[in-house]
Amino acid sequence: MTEIITDIDLAAEEILNGNIVGLPTETVYGLGANALNQDAVIKIFEAKERPRFNPLIVHLFDTEELDKYADEIPQNFFKLYEKFSPGPITYVLKKKKIIPDIVTAGNETVAVRFPSHNIFRELLKKVNVPIAAPSANRFGRISPTSAEDVKKEMDGRIKYILEGGFSDVGIESTVVDLSGETPAVLRHGFVSEEEIQSVTGETIKPESGKIHSPGMLLNHYAPTTPLVIVEHINELEKFEGKNYGILDLNKYHDLKEAAKHLFFDLRRLDEKGFELILAAKVKDEGIGIAINDRLEKARHKNI
Ligand code: AMP
Ligand code: MG
Repeated sequence: MTEIITDIDLAAEEILNGNIVGLPTETVYGLGANALNQDAVIKIFEAKERPRFNPLIVHLFDTEELDKYADEIPQNFFKLYEKFSPGPITYVLKKKKIIPDIVTAGNETVAVRFPSHNIFRELLKKVNVPIAAPSANRFGRISPTSAEDVKKEMDGRIKYILEGGFSDVGIESTVVDLSGETPAVLRHGFVSEEEIQSVTGETIKPESGKIHSPGMLLNHYAPTTPLVIVEHINELEKFEGKNYGILDLNKYHDLKEAAKHLFFDLRRLDEKGFELILAAKVKDEGIGIAINDRLEKARHKNI
C-alpha cells in the first residue's frame, strides 16, 4: 500500500536510504531518488516502467554546488537562471562524471532544474543531495498533478507520496539545451521560446534525426480513452451517436489556468469510460504552444 504523507523528514530519510518517494513540484508530481545513488535511480525506472534511454531531470536547491555536477556552464545559463529560476525551466548542460550514466541515459549532458515548490525545496535542503525525478506516472501516461493521482498511478509500487497540494503550473517544465553553441528548446513548457529568446538573443531548432529529449516522443502523455482533436467544438455533430466526453480548455479564463487543469481534467474524463474524448486546441501562443503540444501527443493517431 502506498501512503500519502505530510512528514518532510520521513521523505528525506527515505531518499537518503536509497528509496524513491512521490514528490510535489510546481510543474507535475515527480518520483524522486538520490541522483548520486545508481541503485536508487534504477528503482524509478522500474516503478515507472520507463525505458532506460529516457534521461531524468536532476533537481537542485540552487546553483551553489552546480559546478560539482555540470561542466563548462555558459553565460546564457546564468542569464536564464536569473530570470526564470527557481521555476519550471530545465537546463541541459555538459555533465560531470559524478552523475551516474543511468540518470542521463548515457548522454554527455545532464538536465538540471531548480524547482520553486516550497515543500520540494525544503526536502532538497534537508537531504542536501541532488534529486533525480521524472513525472510520477507510468511510462507514456498522463502526468499526475495531485497526490491522489500519483497514488492511482503508483499504488503498491512506492511506499510514500509527499502531499503538496495541486501542481500550480500543471504541465512539465520547458527544457532548454545549453550544451551547444546556440540554445535550443527541446520541450515546450510554461516558459515560452520567445521569453528564452528575449534573454539569450536567439534559439535554434533542435537537431532532427536523433531524439534528444524523450519529451519529444510523438506518443506520450496519453489517456487510455482515444483522444481526438477537433478544430471547433461545433464539429461535434460528426460524433453523434458516440459516447464521448469533451475536454474544453477554452472555458478557462486564461492559458495559465488551462495548463493547470489540462492533465487533471483529462484524467477525470479518462476515468469515466467514454468511447472517445474530444478536445479543441487553444490559442497557439505563449504557454498555449505547450498545451497544444501535449494534446497532439495525447491524441490517438489511428482515428
Ligand atoms: P519527465 O520528467 O518524465 O518529463 O522526463 C524528463 C525529460 O527531460 C525527458 O523526457 C527529456 O525530455 C528531458 N531530459 C532529461 N535529461 C536530458 C538530457 N540530458 N538531454 C536532453 N533532454 C533531457
Ligand atoms: Mg514524464
